Amino acid sequence: MSLTLNTDIAIIGGGIAGLWLNAQLRQRGFNTLLIEHNSLGGGQSVKSQGIIHGGAKYALHGALTGSSEAIAEMPERWRCALNGQGDVNLSGVRLLSDAHYLWSPGSIAGNLTSFFASKAMRGRVDQVKGAHLPAALQHKDFKGRVYRLAELVLDVPSLVQRLADLAGDSLLQAQQITPVYENQQLVGVQADDYTIRAQRVVLCAGSGNQDILQAFAFKKPEQQLRPLHMVLAKGAAVLPLYAHCLGGGSKPRVTITTHPAADGQWVWYLGGNLAEADGVARSAEQQIAAAQAEIAQLLPWIDQTAIQWATLRVDRAEPVQSGLTRPDNAFISEDKGLLVGWPTKLALAPDFSDRVLTALQRDGIQPSAPQSYAGLPRPSLAQPIWETLFNDPA
Ligand SMILES: Cc1cc2nc3c(=O)[nH]c(=O)nc-3n(C[C@H](O)[C@H](O)[C@H](O)COP(=O)(O)OP(=O)(O)OC[C@H]3O[C@@H](n4cnc5c(N)ncnc54)[C@H](O)[C@@H]3O)c2cc1C
Repeated sequence: MSLTLNTDIAIIGGGIAGLWLNAQLRQRGFNTLLIEHNSLGGGQSVKSQGIIHGGAKYALHGALTGSSEAIAEMPERWRCALNGQGDVNLSGVRLLSDAHYLWSPGSIAGNLTSFFASKAMRGRVDQVKGAHLPAALQHKDFKGRVYRLAELVLDVPSLVQRLADLAGDSLLQAQQITPVYENQQLVGVQADDYTIRAQRVVLCAGSGNQDILQAFAFKKPEQQLRPLHMVLAKGAAVLPLYAHCLGGGSKPRVTITTHPAADGQWVWYLGGNLAEADGVARSAEQQIAAAQAEIAQLLPWIDQTAIQWATLRVDRAEPVQSGLTRPDNAFISEDKGLLVGWPTKLALAPDFSDRVLTALQRDGIQPSAPQSYAGLPRPSLAQPIWETLFNDPA
């Protein structure tokens, strides 16, 4: 038997985009229902490195574009939210580092000169030395230069937990989602046994968007997937480090973040160029060997003998764009009552939400009388990847 639920906004997908939007809409008095078919955050969000970029790495060639300026605001937006003063109250979310670092291991001054010459970077970087260096770089043999960027690194599992708490009774676990049309207008969705009638439907299911668009008979927007082959390293020798390590090219040679495992050890999560094209072509064993060689070269004082290694293949989902370059803004498009999009970065979840709110305001969508949704099947929270990969290696 189908149960009908009335809401203002139905959100499909419980990653950072859906969860942030849900929290913001609820704060503004909207009734919402967020439908997740698996676990909250379990798509790309808990597999992300948690860096709240301000666009610094895109300025490596002195070329922050105008659109990059949207991302430049994000660290401050998130900082306010973490202090309980932003659009969404993120107090209690664990901040892993209040800075991300730019680390030049050798003498690639040319690269850095254009970087610092870029107007967008002025006032956003400071060189750090000695006791101010990240823990993993505090060694007598350390050579190179390190710059502090005003970017944050968050513990994403605690972020997902906080947003799930803010969601109250608005979360629904459902496997099958089909559109409900009246007079060729989308008026809601059928989610398993629930008929959800909504003023607007927002689709933000990450890499799941494509299949849902197909099921809804929408041809656009098109999605692209960018495969990554990330590496994780866990052990007593692992020390905190949050940094883009520069190579000669426009992308960081390796981007390292460090995450707390439940047993008290630290886990390095390695991305950047290491995880892109060449890394994707490597087998898990080859990719681990490549990561071990990088660490041996960059951090030779780290004893790797007791470190456990694992890799993770994951796709980034984005709207199609030419040349597989990365967009600097969240993306949404609209058609017949359906808003669909990708934040394209965890950091851009507030930008994604802004774009949806602007569309709702333009269309005069207002909160209706408050509804209660107590007793719905609730999706679980995704486990941190460093817990699942090391406790149950693939
Ligand atoms: C390895 C990696 C590292 C990254 N690091 C960073 C970083 O440091 N900083 C940064 O800003 N960004 C980073 N990103 C990008 C960032 O993770 C993503 O842009 C962001 O998490 C996307 O959020 P989302 O909510 O759109 O998608 P997702 O997190 O993928 O969530 C989509 C949700 O929709 C659900 N879903 C899918 N299909 C259906 C369906 N049919 N019905 C119901 N639910 C469905 C999924 O289960 C999932 O929970 C990284 C990405 C990757 C892969």
